[in-house]
Amino acid sequence: MLGLMMNSQLTLTAIMEHARKFHGDAQIVSVTADEPLHRYRYRDCFARAARLANALRRLGARPGDRVGTLAWNDYRHLEVYFGAACEGLVCHTINPRLFAEQIDFIVNHAEDRWLFVDPAFLPQLRALQERLPTVERFVILGPAASAEGCGLRDAISYESLIADEPESIIWPDLDENTACSLCYTSGTTGNPKGVLYSHRALVLHTYGALMPDTMNISCREVVMPVVPMFHVNAWSIPYGAAVVGAKLVFPGPRMGDGEALQRLIESESVTLSAAVPTVWLAVLGYLEKTGKRVPSLKRVIVGGSACPRSIMEAFEQRHGVHVQHAWGMTEMSPMGTLNSPTADWDTLSADEQWTLRLKVGRPVFGVDVKIVDPEGGELPWDGESFGSLKVRGPWICSEYFRIGKGDAHAEDGWFETGDVATIDARGFVAITDRIKDVIKSGGEWISSIDLENTAMAHSGVAEAAVIGASHPKWAERPLLCVVRKPGATVDRGELLAFFEGKVAKWWIPDDVVFVDDLPHTATGKLSKKDLRERMKDYRFPGT
Ligand code: ADP
Repeated sequence: MLGLMMNSQLTLTAIMEHARKFHGDAQIVSVTADEPLHRYRYRDCFARAARLANALRRLGARPGDRVGTLAWNDYRHLEVYFGAACEGLVCHTINPRLFAEQIDFIVNHAEDRWLFVDPAFLPQLRALQERLPTVERFVILGPAASAEGCGLRDAISYESLIADEPESIIWPDLDENTACSLCYTSGTTGNPKGVLYSHRALVLHTYGALMPDTMNISCREVVMPVVPMFHVNAWSIPYGAAVVGAKLVFPGPRMGDGEALQRLIESESVTLSAAVPTVWLAVLGYLEKTGKRVPSLKRVIVGGSACPRSIMEAFEQRHGVHVQHAWGMTEMSPMGTLNSPTADWDTLSADEQWTLRLKVGRPVFGVDVKIVDPEGGELPWDGESFGSLKVRGPWICSEYFRIGKGDAHAEDGWFETGDVATIDARGFVAITDRIKDVIKSGGEWISSIDLENTAMAHSGVAEAAVIGASHPKWAERPLLCVVRKPGATVDRGELLAFFEGKVAKWWIPDDVVFVDDLPHTATGKLSKKDLRERMKDYRFPGT
């Protein structure tokens, strides 16, 4: 027997309409290329999103057409998010920090008809435009004059595009399974692969993200997503903020700039923010150097790569900011787990609490997880057995855009994340490593993430990365690469001694190399692939 309930579709249009009706007054503040601080309200945003949708209709947009964006986090990007998706088109966010060949591949693979481009990325696109035949027009995300002399064929400014369009619109009635946005994985192995999100998946993900033990966002929060809108829907924060009517603060091009972020937090009274650990390192470095404070900030969510304990402690002990660890991936819209205190939290010792806090948290309702051994047998949830982490759920991709199921999509409906993890009896997941980064020493596995976190706890270390370097006897041994803090003099012997008693003796790295910087991926994570390439001629002493 079927239930007798209305079959309202779960769409981003429903989120937008709700926010327009009930949170029209809530503010959206942005740093953009043309304005140091642009400020307007949700109702203005959606009125302009409607004008954009009308403009796209005029340009002949058909359902499912891809609208590419190369843009920072700001209000115009948000208008494209809603305007394109609610019109039944696909907002295809492209990571501008990718190599030109990758952008070329992605735009052509997606067959983007329009590219909405921040002025900062014009030089890249001028060189690339002739290789992008599917792109009919380039839309420069700026004021009327911003397209003049920009050097792109058929360019028009965003403001000119929407200038004469009406705010009134009848949005199409979309099936909730309609595609709404597209994001390519960074392609660390092979070509990037497109993850095509549906309205339904993102609405469910947004509900999941808002729950108290997840991001816990209410209308009283002022939220600053530093996590880029060009990568996995900015962890769905723009949609979540719209559902509850929270004020949004977008840092625009100043995403990695500790000084600018501190200023925004202070001037806009930001209470909650989210970003990868490297961003927080920059902010903490700036706060340490200047003695500046972030008094309004209550919580930060850290994900995308492992959050070292040193970041958590610096935020909490010096600034009273609670740090929550999260894990996910592009294929998961992105949220998988989030770390929040359990009901019995206060009965745990400080050590027990820290052990749990350094894990990535428990799966959000909607995400099912398991760990398996190489033969596919399920491993126990004892916090020690580690294996390949698999996931399934309504916001996890079932196949890649125009590729179909990849190697990671098993016949049984589970998706292999490529991560190695443990799960404990409470359901807390700990990511031990990426399968491709784990160090295979004499047939045993060593977690590069654990070693990095240990090194990061040393007061002289600004950033650390551990890779497996080849070894004649053990196949691989851990090599620690370290960027010292300014003025620090820590040396090899001191650093290696620091590991004693903190990790198993045979895990201690065989050598330390001090470097000026470490390579990062386009999303700000340590790039082990590039580091391995840099260190390919390295030999351990005496080998
Ligand atoms: P890419 O790295 O290709 O840009 P994603 O952004 O989808 O792709 O990254 C997903 C991967 O990032 C995960 O599979 C995991 O390895 C890593 N990751 C994400 N969050 C965490 C975390 N909190 N701790 C450790 N690793 C993480």
